[in-house]
Amino acid sequence: MSGEHQRRLNKASVVAADADKPITAAILTKHGKAQVLAPLFHQQLGWQLRGSDGFDTDKLGMFSGEIPRTMTPLECATEKAQLALAHSDAEFGLGSEGSFNSTYFGLMVMNQELLVLRHRHSNFTVVASAQRPVAAVQRQCRTITQMNAYIDALPPGQKFIAEMVAPETAKTRVAKGLSALSELLQQLPEVRVSSDNEPLQHAVTLSWDFRAHNCPERQQTIARAGEDLLRRLQHYCPHCECPNFVAEPYEKGLPCEVCGSPTQQWRSQRALCQQCGYAHISALEPTTAAPDLCDFCNP
Ligand SMILES: [Zn+2]
Ligand SMILES: [Zn+2]
Repeated sequence: MSGEHQRRLNKASVVAADADKPITAAILTKHGKAQVLAPLFHQQLGWQLRGSDGFDTDKLGMFSGEIPRTMTPLECATEKAQLALAHSDAEFGLGSEGSFNSTYFGLMVMNQELLVLRHRHSNFTVVASAQRPVAAVQRQCRTITQMNAYIDALPPGQKFIAEMVAPETAKTRVAKGLSALSELLQQLPEVRVSSDNEPLQHAVTLSWDFRAHNCPERQQTIARAGEDLLRRLQHYCPHCECPNFVAEPYEKGLPCEVCGSPTQQWRSQRALCQQCGYAHISALEPTTAAPDLCDFCNP
């Protein structure tokens, strides 16, 4: 896109003045993310956010690894925002991408959700995010009793995935979006045994189904990322009124309160306008770091 055709953004570009003329945005989604975000954006900015099924986002990679992911989450969310523009006539395209990483020595899973918003008529791009720990667990089960215990411990609305290696083909059999043992037995009939404590011929691995429509915990993280995006769209450059004028951590080197040496802690933040380049740098509170964060006092 050449510079002369770039449209300039201001507050009126992102806040609908008139309910009859909503600002339009599109999100590519198979998994119900639009239902989580649309009410928030409608209430706060007068947006009409529509989900589109025009492109199978699973082509960009799947959690279960059936289609490997080759892009980083940020690249993937950016690509989805671009595809949302290509498959709609909306003013803004929204891309969403989640990741789950084992943390705290495998005791917790950190769910990070990224949202990338792109404007059709300029290079204006906003990246918003949220992360929360979720108590997702995976378990290899050898009896029906173990499977029942796993299913009973799931949070309300959380669906699960069952995987087993089929004996005749040595291929992995997978059943997804399950909410009860009866559904598992229907989809994987070879699992059936005569009593609950009889050992299964082949172990079955149960895990959370992380797809957004099957994972209420993830919907909460997506809603928080949506709130971060809304916040960014409601902070404007004091010079040109472009949105997303939000302070980010800028310089490290917060001085130690005992010896004054620079530490690895942030000492300043900067808001930078992506449209006119205006920057505002400010010191962060507190203005000194505790000595246990200092390489000299606590080597
Ligand atoms: Zn020190
Ligand atoms: Zn500006």
